[in-house]
Formats: sequence, structure tokens, C-alpha cells
Amino acid sequence: MNRLQLVFTQLALMKRLEAPLARAIVKEKNRYVKDAAASWALTGRLPDRAFEEHERNLRGIISGAALTTVTRFGKLSAQRMKCGCRFLEMKGDDGLISDRTFNRLAQTWVGKYGALKVVGMARTTRDDLRRALLAGEEEGATTQQLRGRLQAVAQLSYFRASTIARTETHNTAMFATAGVAQIIAQETGAQLTKEWLAVEDERTRMSHAEADGQTVDLGGTFQVGGEMLAYPGDPMGSAENVINCRCVQAVEEV
Ligand SMILES: [Zn+2]
Repeated sequence: MNRLQLVFTQLALMKRLEAPLARAIVKEKNRYVKDAAASWALTGRLPDRAFEEHERNLRGIISGAALTTVTRFGKLSAQRMKCGCRFLEMKGDDGLISDRTFNRLAQTWVGKYGALKVVGMARTTRDDLRRALLAGEEEGATTQQLRGRLQAVAQLSYFRASTIARTETHNTAMFATAGVAQIIAQETGAQLTKEWLAVEDERTRMSHAEADGQTVDLGGTFQVGGEMLAYPGDPMGSAENVINCRCVQAVEEV
């Protein structure tokens, strides 16, 4: 696979993984909004029970998506390396790159990043609901109107959800590419590097186009836009440097 193919294969795969994640987030968010609005109409309160259930469901969605993304990108990463390919073929619990490995990596990702994202998403929606109620009450809206205001919060969903799905899928995919390579390097002693690959078009940030081809040791960090990033989409970077980034990376044996 040449560079260009490697970039487009990864981008296409991310697109395929993002879409169902965005849809699942929207569906769950709308379910919560409806549930909260109905409870509010009955009790005059936004119940914690509904919020907690929403958080739990979102966590399930994010964890499931993380496992799929880690598995797909982990395999892609391993296939790039001769030693990785050999590992991939080992089946069962003794296999170094088995489903258990992908599971563990996905759980690590959720613990490190995904869980925080879930809390943030759930709270944002709850805050939107509270704000809608306050604004309505100040304007003297009727109960029926207030319920309508609550339900209208669902309409905020799609754009936000697709941005979240894109950002999280990118983060997970790049985390898995490096994570699986790290495991292979530890097990085989292989010397591996990672290379930053940018899409060369008008939407690419200048600093990311400049980073194209930058190669560092697998455990090292890239210098991009004045920041140190472990991989494209690394959430340690600032939002301006990370959100909507379409860069990917290639792991190579030295
Ligand atoms: Zn980029």
C-alpha cells in the first residue's frame, strides 16, 4: 500500500465508523430528552434517574464504537509490519494480538478519554434542558409550552453529535494504530517508527501540511503547530490543533 492509499484507506474507514456512532448518539440523546420532558410534565422535575440512564447508555455506545474502531485500526496497523502480520495470525487467547488485546486497548481508551467525553455530553444535554426551562419560565410560558421547549432541545443534536463522532473516532483510530504497534514492538523487539501523514488539500491546516512526512520513534511525539502530539487527533493538543484534523499516521519497521 503506498502513502496515498494508506491515507485514503484510513480516512474511508473512519468515515464508515463515524456515521453509525453519530446516529447512535443522536438517537440516545433524543430518547433522553423525550424521557426527561415526559417526567418533567408529570413531576415538575428533571429526574436524576433519567440522567443516569442516559449516561450509562452513552457509555455503552462509546465503548462499543471504541472496540470496533480499535479492532479495525489495530489490525490495519499490524498488517503494515511483517512481524505484526505474524502476530495477527496467531489465534485464540495465546495470540498476542487477539480479541482480548483489542478489548483491553479499547477499555484503556475509554478509561483515558471516552468516559470523560460521555460525562461531558450528558451534562451538556442536561444543561440545555435546564436552560430551556429557565428561559421558558422567565417568559411565563405555559406547562404545555415548556414541555415543547424541552423537546426542542433534541433538535440541537445532529451537528454536535457528528462532530463528536468524527473527533472521537479519529482519536480512537490513531490511539489504536500506535497502541497495537507498541505491543508488537514490546513482544518482538522490533524497531518501529511512526510517520505523520497529511491530506494535501485546501482544507488542511498549514502546520499539518508542514508536518507531513515527519517521522519519529514509536514512543516519541510529533511537533505540530507548536505542540507535542503523540498522534494525529491526540486530545492532549489544543482544540484548534485537533478538531476536524484528517491527518493519519503510518507505522514502519526500521
Ligand atoms: Zn491534521
